[in-house]
Amino acid sequence: MKYDFIVVGHGLAGAILSYTLRKQGRRVLVIDEPRASAASRVAAGLLNPVAGKRFAKSWLADTFIPAADAFYDELEVHFGRQLFIHKPIYKIFSSIEEQNTWMAKSADSSWGDYILDTHTQSIHQPDIDDPYGGIMIGRGGYLQVAEMLDLLTQELLEQKMMLPERFDVEQLQLTEGGVRYKDAEAAHLIFCEGFQVVNNPYFKWLPIQPTKGEVLEVQTENYDPECIYNKAVYVVPVGDGRFKIGATYNWRQPDEEPTPQGQEELAERFGQITTQPFHVTGHWAGIRPAVRDRRPLAGTHPQFAQLSVFNGMGSKGVLMAPYLAQRFAAALAGTEEVMPEIHILRYLSLYYDYINQQNQQL
Ligand SMILES: Cc1cc2nc3c(=O)[nH]c(=O)nc-3n(C[C@H](O)[C@H](O)[C@H](O)COP(=O)(O)OP(=O)(O)OC[C@H]3O[C@@H](n4cnc5c(N)ncnc54)[C@H](O)[C@@H]3O)c2cc1C
Repeated sequence: MKYDFIVVGHGLAGAILSYTLRKQGRRVLVIDEPRASAASRVAAGLLNPVAGKRFAKSWLADTFIPAADAFYDELEVHFGRQLFIHKPIYKIFSSIEEQNTWMAKSADSSWGDYILDTHTQSIHQPDIDDPYGGIMIGRGGYLQVAEMLDLLTQELLEQKMMLPERFDVEQLQLTEGGVRYKDAEAAHLIFCEGFQVVNNPYFKWLPIQPTKGEVLEVQTENYDPECIYNKAVYVVPVGDGRFKIGATYNWRQPDEEPTPQGQEELAERFGQITTQPFHVTGHWAGIRPAVRDRRPLAGTHPQFAQLSVFNGMGSKGVLMAPYLAQRFAAALAGTEEVMPEIHILRYLSLYYDYINQQNQQL
């Protein structure tokens, strides 16, 4: 069979890129080994326009958010199902110093409708511990990532555009016209393997830092607030009194095993937000494809023009992937350049170091 593209990996990156390419009329074959511990399946799917303790707007939020809204809206129409749940995010100040940091930043006019309200005192929601108040953030919410991936996988399987198996790089042949893999031929192959790119002989030189994260699901007594809470962790109400709590960050333990320490940390932090009694109903771990400079990775291989990579979404795949996939699809079509901030060529020196090392080993 002949394709325009083979896409390896169907997490957030591969799924959103392959859907974008299909919408442009490209013939795509997706090869994905289904894994329950893939980062995208473990993620709570939060999209938060405000990043971290320093109260900075997320990188390119003004660009990424409209693209994400449009993409998830379109998928919802396509599948006739709600996938993105819009909810305000109540970022609770953990100290008076944090409140002061925000007050100094809040005069900035570029916040627009990202900030719905600033509270310098508790908003007195039942069972919520917010003595210093907090900010109510708009335009965020969460994507039901696993549901989205299941729907897209089902569609690809029905259209015979997916091989649900491990891609064996040993069987990849680079040809004059592109690539051949088993009985499939394509003009181009794009690797979207998440952290597993560290084992890819063509792209292992990229500076991916596999970063483990754990997520907990807890059940309360039917407590269903109208917002997502954020204080050290995020607490996402997913209905019927259940919450997803995430996430931990661990650079030193690159495995996908949930740990008692992870559970303890998340449960303790949940307890710092709410006094609701709860019990744990689920606990997962996955590995984020984080990058040294915290920017994604996209581009065509420096030596093999038929191979590309789209990866490095770190902890913000839901926010970034729709826009970046659209731009990367345009670059693959030759109508624009890959965005310089995410282009893999910024790490070209690492590629030459890698090649030199390989040559010395011969
Ligand atoms: C605990 C945790 C919580 C998170 N929470 C959030 C959040 O709230 N919001 C957010 O935006 N992001 C969150 N993230 C980050 C988010 O999950 C990532 O940005 C995103 O999932 C990365 O997607 P990906 O497609 O690059 O990688 P992955 O999700 O890892 O997908 C890669 C896919 O490729 C497949 N694959 C790899 N190698 C091969 C091969 N050789 N053959 C076949 N298939 C292969 C894998 O099986 C997998 O299906 C979280 C991550 C973790 C771990």
